[in-house]
Amino acid sequence: MAAYLDHVPLSGIIRIRDMMYSVADPFRLDQGDVSFDAPDSVKSAMTRAIAENKSHYLQTTGVPRLRELIAAKLRTTNRIPIDDPDEVLVTHGGIHGLYMICRALLEPGDEVLIPDPEWPPAAGNILAARGVPVGCRLHESNGWRYDLDELESTITPKTRVLYLNSPNNPTGGVLGRADVERLAGIARDRDLWVISDEAYEDVVFDGEHVSIASLPAMYERTIPLYTFSKSYAMTGLRLGYVAIRDATIRERAKKILFYTASNVASVVQFGGIGALEGTQDCIETFRAELRARRDLFYRGVSGLAGDVFSGRPPAGAFYAFLRINTDWGRVHEGHRGRVSTPGTDVHGGRVSAASGDTRPPSSSWQMVEYLIKNGRIGCVPGVDFGPNGEGYVRFCFARDRKELTGALESMKQLFGVTV
Ligand code: PMP
Repeated sequence: MAAYLDHVPLSGIIRIRDMMYSVADPFRLDQGDVSFDAPDSVKSAMTRAIAENKSHYLQTTGVPRLRELIAAKLRTTNRIPIDDPDEVLVTHGGIHGLYMICRALLEPGDEVLIPDPEWPPAAGNILAARGVPVGCRLHESNGWRYDLDELESTITPKTRVLYLNSPNNPTGGVLGRADVERLAGIARDRDLWVISDEAYEDVVFDGEHVSIASLPAMYERTIPLYTFSKSYAMTGLRLGYVAIRDATIRERAKKILFYTASNVASVVQFGGIGALEGTQDCIETFRAELRARRDLFYRGVSGLAGDVFSGRPPAGAFYAFLRINTDWGRVHEGHRGRVSTPGTDVHGGRVSAASGDTRPPSSSWQMVEYLIKNGRIGCVPGVDFGPNGEGYVRFCFARDRKELTGALESMKQLFGVTV
């Protein structure tokens, strides 16, 4: 029986989503979903596909026109030397692409270096493929980037893959060109594969996005992973893609793709064609608006009394990953007394465990419970992203300005404001 799946955690984000359904008029800063609508180019392409009865089986790896457009985008925008659209595999969103890659690359027990903190499905998908995720710290003091000497020292004879995620969820850290070049050197010297999760490639505020597969001799050992979710506000439509040069790995991936999806929903694929054929204006419009929302949110948080949260605005992605002031617990002792602590609460996850758990209560879970119950503000405990995230809370600032302002007002009522 598949008992190993009992050790694959369901992300705390899902638990919080469930909790939020019991809150009236919530501020949904917990989910990584943009408030924007998909552009007209996507909607009209899908409407046309329905009218033209595009409701039948398709090629497993994606309709040829979509793969052609993706290959062209990867060549021109990401500078990845794709030879043939056949190297592209269209997936049911980025998360499905990641599952497929992990299954295609990993043997049981293979170690994969992942950032700590990191979007929980990275570890979850590695575990589901019987691999071993090994956390490597991102440092807040370093713009939430690696200490690359530390990363190198984490490599063992069992390490097979380096999973990179820049811009990073949850921290917003963006790897610079020098980081990416050094990481490429490490991968080549240590003979590692690279999974490069570039879900937020279009959400960079400071610096540039560098695809590691564009560097010399890297595409052959790198599987770059993308999604339409963030760039085209298509989160619910479920469309992503990867590119794989190595024919053997690609054939393995194709089997997983076929057995898990047969093909990605036809109408959605035509929506993807619409996205890539249409104007790309939405990408810049979304980025400019996200930058304004980032600044609005950080301005509001910095005005809270007692410096409850601290942190610098991120260079990319759309999350505020804020450190909880260690005095918060003392100042708000009365409130904290009312929230449950791990071991007794309903959340489970990495910190609250079965009865008998003697670990200290998680400050990030306590803060999140406090904000949800008393302020109606959805957010995610940092520890859900890895042990290095303990003491932090993640807020998504891709929600519309009204929702962000409402959440900030609510925080002001809870914590007060500086005078
Ligand atoms: N990678 C990262 C780092 C993400 O944050 C997400 C979505 N939150 C994805 C991949 C996948 O997105 P989707 O499955 O919606 O395409």
